Amino acid sequence: MTTKSAMSRAQIQQQKVKSTLNTIVNLFKNGDVPKAISIAVFPPYANIPSTSWSLANRLIMISNDTNDSRGFRQWQKIRRKVKKGAKCFYIISPKMVKKTIDKVNKTTGETETIEKKIIVGYIPVPVFAVENTDGEKLEYEPIELPKLPLFDKAKEWGISVCGVNFMGLYYGSYEQRGSRETIRLATPSEKTWFHELSHAAHSRVVKNLKRGQDPYQEIVAELSAQVLAQLVGTQVESSLGNSYKYIKHYADEMNQTVERGCLSVISDVEKVLNLILQ
Ligand SMILES: [Zn+2]
Repeated sequence: MTTKSAMSRAQIQQQKVKSTLNTIVNLFKNGDVPKAISIAVFPPYANIPSTSWSLANRLIMISNDTNDSRGFRQWQKIRRKVKKGAKCFYIISPKMVKKTIDKVNKTTGETETIEKKIIVGYIPVPVFAVENTDGEKLEYEPIELPKLPLFDKAKEWGISVCGVNFMGLYYGSYEQRGSRETIRLATPSEKTWFHELSHAAHSRVVKNLKRGQDPYQEIVAELSAQVLAQLVGTQVESSLGNSYKYIKHYADEMNQTVERGCLSVISDVEKVLNLILQ
């Protein structure tokens, strides 16, 4: 049975999730995403809870102008108290549900029942910034930055990289034929290289990339490239132009909200960056 107050609580939760996701949408609108992600990819300290958060949640934290935020009880645990009257902000946690699906096995022709975990929504989780807490002194452990041999990554993945002349039509391309992968570059621009390498990484994340210029895949590759350029690049590049417009277009096509569109981009970018920077 659903009571009246429980229903309105769910509505309030939904509202909080929506406004939290809006933080990310606004990053895209303002074009601040690559810079924000490059800050969020390497959290500043090794021993804080947000280090293990999703990239989306770390972006939400950074947008709230803090480097360390935790739940009320997490602060209590390390003998710090949330200051009186301090306001929390929300991060989001996926609400997973187990679902059984009947699937026909192509080789045996038999119907198999598989259990799958799917995300059915998001729950807002309140956290407080360190600046809003008092108490025992904090001990921060700095994070060690890895060396970033990106060319070695292509070698490791068995991708051949070559220079070509596309007659000004493209700057670069990533192609996958069977098990053969090729990156072709018509420019010495690092960002083009990062863009194509990101496509290669994305193909490892989603298994079957769409052929051609899929707007969603382009956003993931371009955003990842921007972040890589900021993290390991040596050349100055311009900012991401129409990513928001693309995401909106893609979201409309998929009957998705812009919030979900941005969130799914962020989560794919996170996987791409993790694979490349591993
Ligand atoms: Zn591309």
